[in-house]
Amino acid sequence: MTEILMTHEEVKSVLFETGAIRKGHFKLPTGEHTNHYFQLPLALRYFNYARRLSVGLSRLMRTVPQIAAQLPKVSVVGASTGGIPVSYSIREALQADQIMWVEKGNNGNLRFRQYDEVTPGENCILVDDIILTGKTMTSLINLVTKSGGKILGIGVLVNPCISKLDFNGIPIVSLTEIPTLHFNDEKTCSLCREKGEPVQVEW
Ligand SMILES: [Zn+2]
Repeated sequence: MTEILMTHEEVKSVLFETGAIRKGHFKLPTGEHTNHYFQLPLALRYFNYARRLSVGLSRLMRTVPQIAAQLPKVSVVGASTGGIPVSYSIREALQADQIMWVEKGNNGNLRFRQYDEVTPGENCILVDDIILTGKTMTSLINLVTKSGGKILGIGVLVNPCISKLDFNGIPIVSLTEIPTLHFNDEKTCSLCREKGEPVQVEW
């Protein structure tokens, strides 16, 4: 039987081999330039990888005292569609209570589906495949807090270390860190000078 837990090197090689992380020179839809492009669903489409990556993350989440103290009465909330497969595997590994996820509504704001909401006092852990700038996670925190939910911690598979992830002291764990060069635009991008035109990518 294959060992379910992956070493740090195995995690990285799965992410690069599946194309979930690409190296190069990229222009994001926001106009920012980076040397890595992340598309985690390319790894998560393989059930076994999704499971093994998420089990690794769940182990880290168990080490957060606030989370460990409340298990299994915890809801796993996915911050994006990329967070859904992670949510299911985390729920299985932690034997958590239930799984929820948010999506963007017509106005661009995050929302739960109608009648599928966090209830006051509900213990929640928030998960996603990756946190780039932290904007989506901040919106989810606001949404869950507004509903009266209690956020015990945050877990992500990949932290590209683009921004300092600080969510008002909520504990955050990541399975792997992939330090990424990041520039606000072409004027400040050293890759533009070294490598020429970037590859325009979608989210
Ligand atoms: Zn550039």
